Amino acid sequence: MPRPEDVLEALAEVKDPELGKDLVSLHMVEGVTVEDGIVSFTLNLTTPACPLRTRLEESAKSAVARVQGVKEVRMKTGSTVFATRDYADAEMLKGVKNIIAIASGKGGVGKSTIAVNLAVALAASGAKVGILDADVYGPSVPLMMGVNGTPEVRNERIIPPVAHNVKVASLGFFYNEKTPVIWRGPLVAGAVRQLLTQVDWGELDYLVVDLPPGTGDASLTLAQTVPLGGVVIVTTPQEAAISIAAKALAMFKKLNVPILGVVENMSYFNCPHCGEKTSIFSSGGGRKVALERGVDFLGEIPLGLAIREKSDVGTPIVAVLPDSAESIVYKELAFRVAGMVSIVAYAKMKK
Ligand code: ADP
Repeated sequence: MPRPEDVLEALAEVKDPELGKDLVSLHMVEGVTVEDGIVSFTLNLTTPACPLRTRLEESAKSAVARVQGVKEVRMKTGSTVFATRDYADAEMLKGVKNIIAIASGKGGVGKSTIAVNLAVALAASGAKVGILDADVYGPSVPLMMGVNGTPEVRNERIIPPVAHNVKVASLGFFYNEKTPVIWRGPLVAGAVRQLLTQVDWGELDYLVVDLPPGTGDASLTLAQTVPLGGVVIVTTPQEAAISIAAKALAMFKKLNVPILGVVENMSYFNCPHCGEKTSIFSSGGGRKVALERGVDFLGEIPLGLAIREKSDVGTPIVAVLPDSAESIVYKELAFRVAGMVSIVAYAKMKK
Protein backbone atom coordinates (compact mmCIF):
# COMPACT_ATOMS: atom_id res chain seq x y z
CA MET A 1 0.00 0.00 0.00
CA PRO A 2 1.38 3.48 -0.81
CA ARG A 3 2.23 5.80 2.09
CA PRO A 4 1.84 9.62 2.23
CA GLU A 5 5.65 9.85 1.99
CA ASP A 6 5.54 8.05 -1.38
CA VAL A 7 2.94 10.52 -2.62
CA LEU A 8 5.06 13.48 -1.48
CA GLU A 9 8.10 11.96 -3.14
CA ALA A 10 6.19 11.73 -6.44
CA LEU A 11 4.94 15.32 -6.11
CA ALA A 12 8.47 16.52 -5.37
CA GLU A 13 9.29 15.51 -8.95
CA VAL A 14 6.73 17.98 -10.37
CA LYS A 15 8.09 21.46 -10.96
CA ASP A 16 6.34 24.79 -11.31
CA PRO A 17 8.10 25.84 -14.53
CA GLU A 18 7.78 29.55 -13.76
CA LEU A 19 9.16 29.40 -10.25
CA GLY A 20 11.63 26.65 -11.13
CA LYS A 21 10.93 24.69 -7.93
CA ASP A 22 8.97 21.56 -7.11
CA LEU A 23 5.46 21.59 -5.68
CA VAL A 24 6.50 20.23 -2.27
CA SER A 25 9.29 22.78 -1.70
CA LEU A 26 6.87 25.52 -2.71
CA HIS A 27 4.43 24.33 0.00
CA MET A 28 1.80 23.77 -2.65
CA VAL A 29 0.85 20.31 -1.36
CA GLU A 30 -1.36 20.01 1.71
CA GLY A 31 -3.22 17.36 3.66
CA VAL A 32 -2.02 14.17 1.98
CA THR A 33 -3.96 11.12 3.16
CA VAL A 34 -4.00 7.57 1.78
CA GLU A 35 -6.75 5.07 2.48
CA ASP A 36 -7.21 1.78 0.64
CA GLY A 37 -5.11 3.10 -2.25
CA ILE A 38 -7.18 6.28 -2.50
CA VAL A 39 -4.96 9.36 -2.27
CA SER A 40 -6.46 12.71 -1.25
CA PHE A 41 -4.65 16.04 -1.10
CA THR A 42 -4.98 19.74 -1.88
CA LEU A 43 -2.88 21.47 -4.49
CA ASN A 44 -2.48 25.00 -3.15
CA LEU A 45 -1.61 27.38 -5.99
CA THR A 46 0.20 30.73 -5.53
CA THR A 47 -2.79 32.60 -6.99
CA PRO A 48 -6.31 31.56 -8.04
CA ALA A 49 -5.45 33.24 -11.35
CA CYS A 50 -2.56 30.84 -11.92
CA PRO A 51 -1.70 30.83 -15.63
CA LEU A 52 -0.42 27.25 -15.35
CA ARG A 53 -3.33 25.92 -13.34
CA THR A 54 -4.49 23.17 -15.72
CA ARG A 55 -0.94 22.10 -16.48
CA LEU A 56 0.03 21.87 -12.80
CA GLU A 57 -3.19 20.06 -11.89
CA GLU A 58 -2.65 17.49 -14.61
CA SER A 59 1.03 16.97 -13.80
CA ALA A 60 0.34 16.59 -10.06
CA LYS A 61 -2.50 14.17 -10.60
CA SER A 62 -0.64 11.99 -13.04
CA ALA A 63 2.53 11.93 -10.90
CA VAL A 64 0.48 10.59 -7.96
CA ALA A 65 -1.44 8.15 -10.16
CA ARG A 66 1.89 6.59 -11.17
CA VAL A 67 2.81 5.72 -7.57
CA GLN A 68 2.60 1.97 -7.11
CA GLY A 69 -0.63 0.81 -5.51
CA VAL A 70 -2.57 4.05 -6.06
CA LYS A 71 -6.12 3.24 -7.17
CA GLU A 72 -7.60 6.71 -7.23
CA VAL A 73 -6.42 10.33 -6.89
CA ARG A 74 -8.77 12.82 -5.26
CA MET A 75 -7.17 16.21 -5.67
CA LYS A 76 -8.68 19.54 -4.65
CA THR A 77 -7.23 22.82 -5.87
CA GLY A 78 -6.97 25.84 -3.59
CA SER A 79 -4.85 28.95 -3.53
CA THR A 80 -2.98 31.18 -1.15
CA VAL A 81 -1.70 34.29 -2.86
CA PHE A 82 2.01 35.02 -2.34
CA ALA A 83 2.71 38.52 -1.04
CA THR A 84 5.29 40.78 -2.64
CA ARG A 85 5.33 42.96 0.41
CA ASP A 86 4.79 43.27 4.10
CA TYR A 87 2.66 46.36 4.47
CA ALA A 88 2.75 46.54 8.24
CA ASP A 89 4.24 49.99 7.68
CA ALA A 90 0.88 51.53 6.80
CA GLU A 91 -2.02 50.64 9.10
CA MET A 92 -4.71 50.55 6.39
CA LEU A 93 -2.60 48.51 4.02
CA LYS A 94 -1.85 45.77 6.51
CA GLY A 95 -4.09 43.25 4.81
CA VAL A 96 -2.95 44.06 1.26
CA LYS A 97 -0.63 41.45 -0.22
CA ASN A 98 0.26 42.95 -3.59
CA ILE A 99 -0.02 46.39 -5.16
CA ILE A 100 -0.01 46.35 -8.95
CA ALA A 101 0.36 49.69 -10.72
CA ILE A 102 -0.96 50.24 -14.23
CA ALA A 103 0.95 53.00 -15.99
CA SER A 104 1.35 54.53 -19.42
CA GLY A 105 3.52 57.13 -21.05
CA LYS A 106 0.55 59.12 -22.32
CA GLY A 107 -3.20 59.44 -21.90
CA GLY A 108 -5.91 57.81 -23.95
CA VAL A 109 -4.11 54.53 -24.55
CA GLY A 110 -6.65 52.49 -22.56
CA LYS A 111 -4.81 52.27 -19.27
CA SER A 112 -7.93 52.70 -17.10
CA THR A 113 -9.90 50.22 -19.21
CA ILE A 114 -7.14 47.67 -18.71
CA ALA A 115 -6.89 48.40 -14.97
CA VAL A 116 -10.64 47.91 -14.53
CA ASN A 117 -10.92 44.72 -16.58
CA LEU A 118 -7.79 43.30 -15.00
CA ALA A 119 -9.24 43.91 -11.53
CA VAL A 120 -12.58 42.34 -12.45
CA ALA A 121 -10.85 39.32 -14.05
CA LEU A 122 -8.67 38.74 -10.96
CA ALA A 123 -11.75 38.98 -8.73
CA ALA A 124 -13.64 36.55 -10.96
CA SER A 125 -10.81 34.03 -10.53
CA GLY A 126 -11.54 34.07 -6.79
CA ALA A 127 -8.97 36.62 -5.61
CA LYS A 128 -9.77 39.48 -3.22
CA VAL A 129 -9.27 42.63 -5.25
CA GLY A 130 -9.39 46.42 -4.91
CA ILE A 131 -8.85 49.18 -7.44
CA LEU A 132 -7.44 52.58 -6.58
CA ASP A 133 -7.98 55.29 -9.13
CA ALA A 134 -4.96 57.54 -8.76
CA ASP A 135 -5.50 59.21 -12.12
CA VAL A 136 -5.96 62.61 -10.51
CA TYR A 137 -6.33 64.43 -13.84
CA GLY A 138 -9.13 62.27 -15.18
CA PRO A 139 -10.48 59.75 -12.69
CA SER A 140 -12.58 57.47 -14.87
CA VAL A 141 -12.68 54.32 -12.73
CA PRO A 142 -15.97 55.15 -10.90
CA LEU A 143 -17.72 55.61 -14.25
CA MET A 144 -16.22 52.43 -15.70
CA MET A 145 -17.07 50.42 -12.57
CA GLY A 146 -20.55 51.94 -12.26
CA VAL A 147 -20.12 53.46 -8.80
CA ASN A 148 -21.08 56.99 -7.89
CA GLY A 149 -21.77 59.19 -4.92
CA THR A 150 -19.56 59.85 -1.95
CA PRO A 151 -18.48 56.77 0.00
CA GLU A 152 -19.23 56.29 3.65
CA VAL A 153 -16.59 57.46 6.11
CA ARG A 154 -16.43 55.52 9.40
CA ASN A 155 -13.96 56.37 12.17
CA GLU A 156 -12.06 58.54 9.71
CA ARG A 157 -11.74 55.63 7.34
CA ILE A 158 -13.17 55.66 3.85
CA ILE A 159 -15.25 52.54 3.22
CA PRO A 160 -14.75 51.61 -0.44
CA PRO A 161 -17.90 50.66 -2.34
CA VAL A 162 -17.84 47.26 -4.02
CA ALA A 163 -18.65 46.82 -7.71
CA HIS A 164 -18.26 43.61 -9.72
CA ASN A 165 -16.65 42.06 -6.62
CA VAL A 166 -13.94 44.74 -6.55
CA LYS A 167 -13.48 47.39 -3.83
CA VAL A 168 -13.25 50.81 -5.47
CA ALA A 169 -11.65 54.06 -4.32
CA SER A 170 -11.16 57.15 -6.43
CA LEU A 171 -10.47 60.84 -6.08
CA GLY A 172 -13.45 61.18 -8.37
CA PHE A 173 -15.65 60.43 -5.33
CA PHE A 174 -14.59 63.64 -3.66
CA TYR A 175 -14.93 66.32 -6.26
CA ASN A 176 -17.44 67.24 -8.87
CA GLU A 177 -16.33 66.10 -12.30
CA LYS A 178 -17.55 69.38 -13.80
CA THR A 179 -15.28 71.45 -11.57
CA PRO A 180 -11.74 71.65 -12.85
CA VAL A 181 -9.21 70.81 -10.21
CA ILE A 182 -5.80 72.36 -10.40
CA TRP A 183 -3.33 69.93 -9.02
CA ARG A 184 0.12 70.98 -8.02
CA GLY A 185 2.78 68.41 -7.30
CA PRO A 186 2.49 68.27 -3.49
CA LEU A 187 -1.32 68.08 -3.71
CA VAL A 188 -1.13 65.13 -6.08
CA ALA A 189 1.29 63.37 -3.76
CA GLY A 190 -0.94 64.07 -0.75
CA ALA A 191 -4.07 62.83 -2.51
CA VAL A 192 -2.46 59.58 -3.62
CA ARG A 193 -1.08 58.98 -0.14
CA GLN A 194 -4.52 59.63 1.38
CA LEU A 195 -6.25 57.18 -0.91
CA LEU A 196 -3.65 54.57 -0.12
CA THR A 197 -3.71 54.98 3.61
CA GLN A 198 -7.18 56.26 4.54
CA VAL A 199 -9.25 53.74 2.64
CA ASP A 200 -10.22 50.71 4.66
CA TRP A 201 -9.04 48.10 2.16
CA GLY A 202 -9.32 45.14 4.52
CA GLU A 203 -7.85 41.89 3.20
CA LEU A 204 -6.79 42.08 -0.44
CA ASP A 205 -4.75 39.75 -2.61
CA TYR A 206 -4.31 42.47 -5.21
CA LEU A 207 -4.73 46.23 -5.16
CA VAL A 208 -4.70 47.49 -8.74
CA VAL A 209 -3.67 51.14 -9.03
CA ASP A 210 -4.63 53.14 -12.09
CA LEU A 211 -1.90 55.79 -12.30
CA PRO A 212 -2.17 59.06 -14.19
CA PRO A 213 -0.34 59.00 -17.52
CA GLY A 214 3.28 60.04 -17.68
CA THR A 215 6.10 60.12 -15.24
CA GLY A 216 4.72 62.68 -12.79
CA ASP A 217 4.20 63.09 -9.09
CA ALA A 218 1.54 60.43 -8.57
CA SER A 219 3.78 57.66 -9.88
CA LEU A 220 6.74 58.90 -7.89
CA THR A 221 4.70 59.20 -4.70
CA LEU A 222 3.22 55.76 -5.08
CA ALA A 223 6.57 54.11 -5.72
CA GLN A 224 8.15 55.96 -2.83
CA THR A 225 5.32 55.53 -0.31
CA VAL A 226 4.79 51.79 -0.56
CA PRO A 227 6.76 48.92 -2.02
CA LEU A 228 5.02 47.96 -5.25
CA GLY A 229 4.52 44.39 -6.35
CA GLY A 230 5.15 45.63 -9.85
CA VAL A 231 4.00 47.80 -12.70
CA VAL A 232 2.31 47.02 -16.00
CA ILE A 233 3.08 49.48 -18.81
CA VAL A 234 0.30 50.06 -21.33
CA THR A 235 1.00 51.37 -24.82
CA THR A 236 -0.67 51.58 -28.19
CA PRO A 237 1.25 50.28 -31.22
CA GLN A 238 2.30 53.58 -32.83
CA GLU A 239 5.92 54.61 -32.81
CA ALA A 240 5.18 57.87 -30.92
CA ALA A 241 3.32 56.07 -28.13
CA ILE A 242 6.05 53.50 -27.78
CA SER A 243 8.90 55.94 -27.25
CA ILE A 244 6.87 57.59 -24.46
CA ALA A 245 6.06 54.19 -22.93
CA ALA A 246 9.78 53.43 -22.93
CA LYS A 247 10.36 56.55 -20.82
CA ALA A 248 7.76 55.44 -18.24
CA LEU A 249 9.38 52.03 -18.17
CA ALA A 250 12.80 53.56 -17.55
CA MET A 251 11.42 55.65 -14.68
CA PHE A 252 9.95 52.65 -12.85
CA LYS A 253 13.17 50.74 -13.37
CA LYS A 254 15.06 53.63 -11.78
CA LEU A 255 12.65 53.53 -8.84
CA ASN A 256 13.37 49.80 -8.45
CA VAL A 257 9.77 48.84 -9.16
CA PRO A 258 9.57 45.35 -10.70
CA ILE A 259 8.36 45.64 -14.29
CA LEU A 260 5.69 42.97 -14.76
CA GLY A 261 5.61 43.65 -18.48
CA VAL A 262 4.23 45.66 -21.39
CA VAL A 263 0.69 45.38 -22.81
CA GLU A 264 -0.22 46.63 -26.25
CA ASN A 265 -3.76 48.01 -26.48
CA MET A 266 -5.80 48.67 -29.63
CA SER A 267 -3.47 46.27 -31.45
CA TYR A 268 -5.95 45.11 -34.07
CA PHE A 269 -9.58 45.24 -35.08
CA ASN A 270 -11.63 42.22 -36.08
CA CYS A 271 -14.23 43.39 -38.57
CA PRO A 272 -17.62 42.16 -37.30
CA HIS A 273 -18.87 41.92 -40.91
CA CYS A 274 -16.11 40.21 -42.88
CA GLY A 275 -13.96 38.92 -39.99
CA GLU A 276 -10.80 40.47 -41.40
CA LYS A 277 -8.15 41.43 -38.88
CA THR A 278 -6.76 44.95 -39.40
CA SER A 279 -3.93 46.59 -37.46
CA ILE A 280 -5.35 50.11 -37.48
CA PHE A 281 -2.50 51.70 -35.55
CA SER A 282 0.15 49.29 -36.94
CA SER A 283 1.28 46.52 -34.60
CA GLY A 284 4.19 44.90 -32.85
CA GLY A 285 5.46 48.06 -31.14
CA GLY A 286 4.65 46.87 -27.64
CA ARG A 287 6.44 43.59 -28.20
CA LYS A 288 9.42 45.42 -29.68
CA VAL A 289 9.80 47.82 -26.75
CA ALA A 290 9.49 44.93 -24.28
CA LEU A 291 12.15 42.97 -26.11
CA GLU A 292 14.50 45.95 -26.39
CA ARG A 293 14.19 46.73 -22.68
CA GLY A 294 14.45 43.11 -21.58
CA VAL A 295 11.00 42.88 -19.98
CA ASP A 296 8.07 40.54 -20.61
CA PHE A 297 5.48 41.20 -23.26
CA LEU A 298 2.11 40.45 -21.68
CA GLY A 299 -0.14 40.50 -24.72
CA GLU A 300 -2.18 42.38 -27.30
CA ILE A 301 -5.69 43.70 -26.68
CA PRO A 302 -7.91 44.28 -29.70
CA LEU A 303 -9.80 47.44 -30.48
CA GLY A 304 -13.38 46.46 -29.70
CA LEU A 305 -16.61 48.40 -29.81
CA ALA A 306 -18.06 46.39 -26.91
CA ILE A 307 -15.03 47.21 -24.74
CA ARG A 308 -15.80 50.93 -25.04
CA GLU A 309 -19.58 50.56 -24.83
CA LYS A 310 -19.53 48.43 -21.68
CA SER A 311 -16.99 50.72 -19.98
CA ASP A 312 -19.16 53.76 -20.69
CA VAL A 313 -22.11 52.32 -18.79
CA GLY A 314 -20.22 51.04 -15.76
CA THR A 315 -20.24 47.37 -16.68
CA PRO A 316 -16.73 46.26 -17.69
CA ILE A 317 -16.83 43.75 -20.53
CA VAL A 318 -15.16 41.05 -18.40
CA ALA A 319 -18.03 41.35 -15.89
CA VAL A 320 -20.95 41.27 -18.31
CA LEU A 321 -19.67 39.38 -21.35
CA PRO A 322 -17.14 37.09 -19.66
CA ASP A 323 -17.02 34.62 -22.54
CA SER A 324 -16.52 37.15 -25.33
CA ALA A 325 -13.27 37.03 -27.32
CA GLU A 326 -12.20 40.38 -25.82
CA SER A 327 -12.86 39.22 -22.24
CA ILE A 328 -10.81 36.09 -22.80
CA VAL A 329 -7.89 38.28 -23.88
CA TYR A 330 -8.25 40.41 -20.70
CA LYS A 331 -8.49 37.27 -18.55
CA GLU A 332 -5.35 35.82 -20.11
CA LEU A 333 -3.63 39.11 -19.39
CA ALA A 334 -4.81 39.02 -15.76
CA PHE A 335 -3.54 35.46 -15.34
CA ARG A 336 -0.17 36.41 -16.84
CA VAL A 337 0.10 39.42 -14.52
CA ALA A 338 -0.82 37.28 -11.48
CA GLY A 339 1.81 34.74 -12.55
CA MET A 340 4.44 37.48 -12.80
CA VAL A 341 3.48 38.78 -9.34
CA SER A 342 3.95 35.27 -7.90
CA ILE A 343 7.42 35.16 -9.45
CA VAL A 344 8.34 38.55 -7.93
CA ALA A 345 6.92 37.49 -4.54
CA TYR A 346 8.79 34.21 -4.60
CA ALA A 347 12.08 35.93 -5.47
CA LYS A 348 11.56 38.26 -2.47
CA MET A 349 10.76 35.33 -0.14
CA LYS A 350 14.03 33.65 -1.02
CA LYS A 351 16.08 36.73 -0.07
P1 ADP B 1 -6.42 56.05 -20.46
O1 ADP B 1 -6.68 55.54 -19.08
O2 ADP B 1 -5.13 55.55 -21.02
O3 ADP B 1 -6.54 57.52 -20.59
P2 ADP B 1 -8.99 54.89 -21.12
O4 ADP B 1 -8.91 53.54 -20.54
O5 ADP B 1 -9.74 55.94 -20.40
O6 ADP B 1 -7.51 55.43 -21.43
O7 ADP B 1 -9.53 54.73 -22.61
C1 ADP B 1 -9.75 55.83 -23.46
C2 ADP B 1 -10.98 55.53 -24.34
O8 ADP B 1 -10.69 54.44 -25.20
C3 ADP B 1 -12.21 55.12 -23.53
O9 ADP B 1 -13.33 55.64 -24.17
C4 ADP B 1 -12.20 53.59 -23.61
O10 ADP B 1 -13.51 53.06 -23.54
C5 ADP B 1 -11.62 53.37 -24.98
N1 ADP B 1 -10.88 52.12 -25.10
C6 ADP B 1 -9.83 51.70 -24.35
N2 ADP B 1 -9.37 50.51 -24.75
C7 ADP B 1 -10.15 50.15 -25.79
C8 ADP B 1 -10.19 49.02 -26.67
N3 ADP B 1 -9.32 48.03 -26.56
N4 ADP B 1 -11.17 48.99 -27.63
C9 ADP B 1 -12.04 50.02 -27.76
N5 ADP B 1 -12.05 51.10 -26.99
C10 ADP B 1 -11.11 51.19 -26.03
